[in-house]
Amino acid sequence: MEKRYNAFTGYFKKKYGCRLQKIVIDAGFTCPNRDGRVGTGGCTYCNNAAFHPNYSTPDKSVLQQIEEGMEFHKGRYRNTNDYLAYFQSFSNTYAPLDTLKKLYDEALSHPSVRGIVVGTRPDCIDEEKLDYFQKLSEQKVVVIEYGIESCYDRTLKRINRGHDFETAAKAVEATAKRGIFQGAHFIMGLPGETREDLMGMAPIINELPLNTLKFHQLQIIKGTAMEREYEQKPEDFITFSLDGYVDFFVDFLEHLRPDLYIERFAGEVPPRFVNHTPWGLIRNTELLRLLEQRLVERDTFQGKLYKKTLI
Ligand code: SF4
Repeated sequence: MEKRYNAFTGYFKKKYGCRLQKIVIDAGFTCPNRDGRVGTGGCTYCNNAAFHPNYSTPDKSVLQQIEEGMEFHKGRYRNTNDYLAYFQSFSNTYAPLDTLKKLYDEALSHPSVRGIVVGTRPDCIDEEKLDYFQKLSEQKVVVIEYGIESCYDRTLKRINRGHDFETAAKAVEATAKRGIFQGAHFIMGLPGETREDLMGMAPIINELPLNTLKFHQLQIIKGTAMEREYEQKPEDFITFSLDGYVDFFVDFLEHLRPDLYIERFAGEVPPRFVNHTPWGLIRNTELLRLLEQRLVERDTFQGKLYKKTLI
């Protein structure tokens, strides 16, 4: 049966005829929100160590991380021979273009690497870098992933994000103008945001010329400023039960543009990084199964209530 939402799984297979497995790379970048250019404390929820696998550490060369990543994935996906180097840690366009090119070229020199996925902040991109990505995307798979996190400036300020929503919208527009495939990441349940605020993000996101979306429910990471904020003001945070979140996300999906690919709608950080795991330990495949089941039960689908804004 066709899925009731526009799942990103299978996109590469359809487009390029093969599955493309991502290998996470930590190329030793930092972030302007940590090194003082924009800020020093970083986003209040940030602990980058929580989000990357063991094989990916900046003391290893890009090629070594790719070799080790392939070994790691071969055990799980026997038929995978094609990979994308996923520059994920910190802000992966935060360096002069020549430095970036050297790192990306090193990854692309591996015969099994078909392209790159580059995670970054919307304030770490410029015309010169976008021109480079546009050219590269004529020969290789190129995906830019922007951390946007919230559509509301008051939230971005509160989480010390160091950029506003307009900066994100401009980066997405400039990327789309060059025809570069791009995605964005959002966090559901940042402090001060109500369920209505979250629902209100759907029409705003619909206006952005994005291709893919990743969502995460907020998880409070140990040792972060947000953990302290949560302890002091728990009433400022929505806490979703697992069923409640799946139901909320079905509501949200109904309002989303039907062509937006959903790459992720929730995810669990490894338990050692969080102070509690309200949903128990649940795998991504099980989360997706619950979403699909709920869509069937409610006999609904992505975009059911989507209304195109007429300008
Ligand atoms: S932009 Fe990313 S790496 Fe930088 S502080 Fe925020 S979450 Fe951390």
